Order: sequence, then C-alpha cells, then structure tokens
Amino acid sequence: MDEMRIWTCENGHVLGLVSRNGRGITRLMIYRQAVDHQADEPVAPEVMGIVEGTVLDIRCSVCGCVRTWFPSQEALDKLLARVGKQKGEIAVEKIT
Ligand SMILES: [Zn+2]
Repeated sequence: MDEMRIWTCENGHVLGLVSRNGRGITRLMIYRQAVDHQADEPVAPEVMGIVEGTVLDIRCSVCGCVRTWFPSQEALDKLLARVGKQKGEIAVEKIT
C-alpha cells in the first residue's frame, strides 16, 4: 500500500505530495501552485508533474522560498535492507 505525506516549504505551504510505493520507490507529485492551508480560501491543488529523481530549486508560489527535492535516504536504506533480506532467505532455502 502506498504511503502519502505532504511536502512543504519552510513556511508550511504545501508544494506537493510524496508517495512511496511497495517497492520503496519515493516519488514527488509537484503542485502547479503551492497550497496555503492558512489562507481563507486555499486554492485547489493541481498536480503539475511526478518526479522520481532530484529536482533543484522548486519555488513556492505563495512565499517565494526555494527548496530542493531529493528522494529520501530512508527509502534507499529500506530498499537495500530488503534486498539483503531476500538474499538471506535464498541462502536458507539452499541449505534446507
Ligand atoms: Zn511558501
């Protein structure tokens, strides 16, 4: 099952959604316009694109601050741990 969490700028405006699928791949859905949940009438989010790699300088359309997106190290660690575990299971099968 996919995990979803919001990705915000330094001031809490939502720049997009981060999802991680069952294979540990982390992706960012970038909103065309940042969403300010403190506003009286927040704009409806519109997804501009989906990225899996690093994206430099994503600018918040509300406050103008800039962030760089990179897939989390945590996701990579989990992926590597899973690969290691699978190798271990294969070895056990061969012995028994
Ligand atoms: Zn902002």
